[in-house]
Amino acid sequence: MTKEEAKDILSSKKVIGTPKRVALLRVLSTHKKPVSVSELLKKVQKDIELDLVTMYRNLTLLSNVGIVKELHLQKGVSLYEYNKGDHHHHFICRGCGYIEDIHDCLSLDITEKALKNTKKFSSVSDHSFELFGICNVCSK
Ligand SMILES: [Zn+2]
Ligand SMILES: [Zn+2]
Ligand SMILES: [Zn+2]
Repeated sequence: MTKEEAKDILSSKKVIGTPKRVALLRVLSTHKKPVSVSELLKKVQKDIELDLVTMYRNLTLLSNVGIVKELHLQKGVSLYEYNKGDHHHHFICRGCGYIEDIHDCLSLDITEKALKNTKKFSSVSDHSFELFGICNVCSK
């Protein structure tokens, strides 16, 4: 993604394309898999001066407008990925942290059941869940 493309994406969500946000988004868009905050910070810092607090603030902003997806995995670890708009779920190895995308949406049954069992909600606008297991490499 070029700087111009990053700026366009940001402005389409009414977010000002500051150099820091542009750098952050460009690094995120090169990752095919969700990436941890520390890894992200290391890579963005090659491009621009950025501290952890500022990065968190910008990540929160970008995830609030839907440009970035925040995944809450085990032990309070958050991973971030660029939201290309292709709805998917993740299969995550408990052993090594390997992540595979699942492109079939798994939730229709669950959504229906959940709606039957609640009196407080009548529709679902969005959902997110991940599957955990041990990958074949780790189980050997
Ligand atoms: Zn594994
Ligand atoms: Zn993903
Ligand atoms: Zn789904």
